[in-house]
Amino acid sequence: MKIHNVELLISAVRPAQYPEGDLPEFALAGRSNVGKSSFINKMIGRKSMARISSKPGKTQTLNFYQLQEALMFVDVPGYGYAKVSKTERAAWGKMIETYFTTRTALKAAIMIVDLRHPPSKDDCMMYNFFKHYNIPCIIIATKADKIPKGKWDKHKKIVKDELQIQKGDSLIVFSSESGLGYDAAWAEIEAKMA
Ligand code: GDP
Repeated sequence: MKIHNVELLISAVRPAQYPEGDLPEFALAGRSNVGKSSFINKMIGRKSMARISSKPGKTQTLNFYQLQEALMFVDVPGYGYAKVSKTERAAWGKMIETYFTTRTALKAAIMIVDLRHPPSKDDCMMYNFFKHYNIPCIIIATKADKIPKGKWDKHKKIVKDELQIQKGDSLIVFSSESGLGYDAAWAEIEAKMA
């Protein structure tokens, strides 16, 4: 899908602030600094719409982006950043749980992981959380350009096995740098929009 029009509707913390309407929604989750903003920017064809975060863990709001009249991307604040207080972590957990357990327009979670490394404990917890609530997932293994092509399959298998990716959930090797996986990611999103 070629995106011509993107609008940040709101940065929300409470359900009352979530935008109304029933556009199919996709929530983007990932460890801080994993490359989530770069993924979003690549997919919407912008250089810096979703801010490339210089301070990981800073944004603690759900950012609702409307893509044309077609769908919504919800940028979920990154997890796993060490320098976050217990209070902030708890607030994050509450906000995420409320969103993922109540949002009826949600079609799938798009979870971003780093293809170079085995998924972290937090990645596994996040995926288990999605599966606990029966939320379909699209797993994006990004930064593929940082390892040789010959190693992609091996790394892909590690991600798949460590997360124990379930049937129906897809795993896409991606690079925001080269655009690898762009078509596959859009195809997967469009398949889950209906
Ligand atoms: P976020 O905190 O998850 O939103 O991560 P960012 O999108 O801000 O990316 C973190 C860092 O990784 C930045 O320096 C990006 O330029 C870099 N980065 C993100 N995606 C890729 C990628 O696919 N390839 C390469 N080589 N670098 C990437």
